[in-house]
Amino acid sequence: QRKFFVGGNWKMNNLKKDNEKLIELMNNASINYDKAEVLVAPPALYIDFVRQRLNPNVHVAAQNCYKLEKGAFTGDISPAMIKDCGADYVILGHSERRNVFGESDELIGQKVKHALDAGLNVLPCIGEKLEEREAGKTEEVVFRQMKHIADNISDWSRVVIAYEPVWAIGTGKTATPQQAQEVHAQLRQWLATNVNQQVADSTRILYGGSVTGATAKELASQPDIDGFLVGGASLKPEIIDIINARN
Ligand code: 13P
Repeated sequence: QRKFFVGGNWKMNNLKKDNEKLIELMNNASINYDKAEVLVAPPALYIDFVRQRLNPNVHVAAQNCYKLEKGAFTGDISPAMIKDCGADYVILGHSERRNVFGESDELIGQKVKHALDAGLNVLPCIGEKLEEREAGKTEEVVFRQMKHIADNISDWSRVVIAYEPVWAIGTGKTATPQQAQEVHAQLRQWLATNVNQQVADSTRILYGGSVTGATAKELASQPDIDGFLVGGASLKPEIIDIINARN
């Protein structure tokens, strides 16, 4: 069975003093780690700081990395560095990487491959823009993004997928449980057809996009929604309600 999974993507927010408060909140919260796998993704500069203070049951992730081991790539970081600082996951292909920083499906695929080869767990993100949804292209877009990722996956046991419709990210417009469930079911079917049934049955597919303490419970009750990737609400006490949404 697929264990419920909640990741907090802190994006480019907070300084050490704010991180300390969030860590204290999470360390003191009542969380059943047998029921929920939990992850936080601080800015890379703070991975070490967070890892040293946070409950060891919580995964720490980087928000991005490069596709190569080392070299002259000013400003970037490698999977080996992420591991060296104590993190065990990397988020890849987030819509902000795609749309603000211009990352292509090909580059994201290469990053997925290298991060897995280097021993990290990966959390690749996919999702359609509003105009793509309105043009009836949601399936086409998420399947195309998914294929570039899946073609580069050697070990599905180290992969958690996040479906994050771009129109729902940071907008306060959460997808309805029905809208999210529909795409999650299509993605699971895609995995069954294009990878295999075992991978389709065992791979967690998270929903992301304006998830709050108030919307998490009903979303979490959908059969193909296995958890959340949370932005804004992961910086607030309500992240605990989201982690406990299945309880
Ligand atoms: P919000 O929860 O702020 O909409 O962000 C979602 C997200 O992008 C998580 O990766």
